[in-house]
Amino acid sequence: MELVFRTRRAVTSAGEGSFDVGVDGGRIVAVAAYGELVGPRVVELGDDEVLLPGLVDTHVHVNDPGRSDWEGFETATRAAAAGGITTIVDMPLNSLPPTVDVAALELKRKTAAGRVHVDVGFWGGAIPGNSADLGALHESGVFGFKCFLLHSGVDEFPPLETGELEADLRILADLGAMMIVHAEDPDTIEQAPQAHGGHYADFLNSRPREAENVAIARVIELARRTGARVHILHLSSSDALAMIGAARREGVALTVETCPHYLTFSAEEIADGATQFKCCPPIRESRNRELLWQGLADGTIDFVVSDHSPCTPELKRFDIGDFGEAWGGIASLQVGLPAVWTGARDRGFTLADVVRWMAERPAAQAGLARKGRIEIGADADFCVFAPDEQFVVDVANLRHRNPVSAYHGRALTGVVRSTWLRGKEIGSVAEGELLVRGGIS
Ligand SMILES: [Zn+2]
Repeated sequence: MELVFRTRRAVTSAGEGSFDVGVDGGRIVAVAAYGELVGPRVVELGDDEVLLPGLVDTHVHVNDPGRSDWEGFETATRAAAAGGITTIVDMPLNSLPPTVDVAALELKRKTAAGRVHVDVGFWGGAIPGNSADLGALHESGVFGFKCFLLHSGVDEFPPLETGELEADLRILADLGAMMIVHAEDPDTIEQAPQAHGGHYADFLNSRPREAENVAIARVIELARRTGARVHILHLSSSDALAMIGAARREGVALTVETCPHYLTFSAEEIADGATQFKCCPPIRESRNRELLWQGLADGTIDFVVSDHSPCTPELKRFDIGDFGEAWGGIASLQVGLPAVWTGARDRGFTLADVVRWMAERPAAQAGLARKGRIEIGADADFCVFAPDEQFVVDVANLRHRNPVSAYHGRALTGVVRSTWLRGKEIGSVAEGELLVRGGIS
């Protein structure tokens, strides 16, 4: 074998412990007792370091081509690598064109090729009028399809009406494909007070929990009726946990994610005008946050992914600090692991829990059989993590394109020391691959 990782602490599929991990041809070929393997090159981890599988982030808005002033493949994947992430799956909207037909997917692949530092897959989009494109997109290797139930923030990616969603779910059920849903109900939000001004509480009132609850109930009902596999994106309302749990027990094919910001921040602490915290659905009260942690603990929430959704500083409207006017989205690709680990550790969770939430389960949901685990046959993707080292987030050190992040100034625990993709330490050369559903294209 080419390379051996030797560590007193690794989180593997065989449990946490002291291991040698052997790598050959970019794959893990042996997981053995500490000191047992021989190879031409041995990477010995420090006593304060843990070997984790490379993380898998299935919710990233790269916005390229078309809005590459917001983000781009080069910057997003550098930020991912710096954050211990070795695979991302790109969302179909905010790029121009959105990924709603095969031509747009091909353009996105051409834009990304040779510029990615981690492996990159793509979600397709389901919008009114593109039902006939879903089959071809599926054949071309998208991981599934994203839809909105209300205005997405960009006019070129309109929402599906209930009837359109049901029709598309029937198509996806036949294909064996998954629908991932931004679940907020437009009518509930229509009736809520309008978001405007600098008070976070006013913004929060404009996106009530009820909007999520109503939309999730509808998605569950349609999944039950069509047999399609559905996934709830960025769950923020803890009210919905009970119905999600009940639907799953009943056998509805439903998975759920939440994001580091809902687990880290609380509405009570967001200052007036601090639009770097604006996202949809919104960050809610601390009591809600604790119930989301409970949802992770009991397995109702499957995993945690970033929903990295950056924009230019101008679009955050720091000049007026108006939550109604600012773009909604939080840039967090590079700090998701320390943010979640900081909160997890405080609440008595382990690194194995974090690996399950941020590597194993998102990989499994996306059908990436060789990702998210340290075990024989998996890709040799690793994050070398120092779980006790503390730091304060400074946007100047974040590698995504624009220096804006809700985490700026936040003290976190856990530092990514290095990230490895198929047995090579990720550096300045872009050696990521473009993935299709199930593997490399
Ligand atoms: Zn998103």
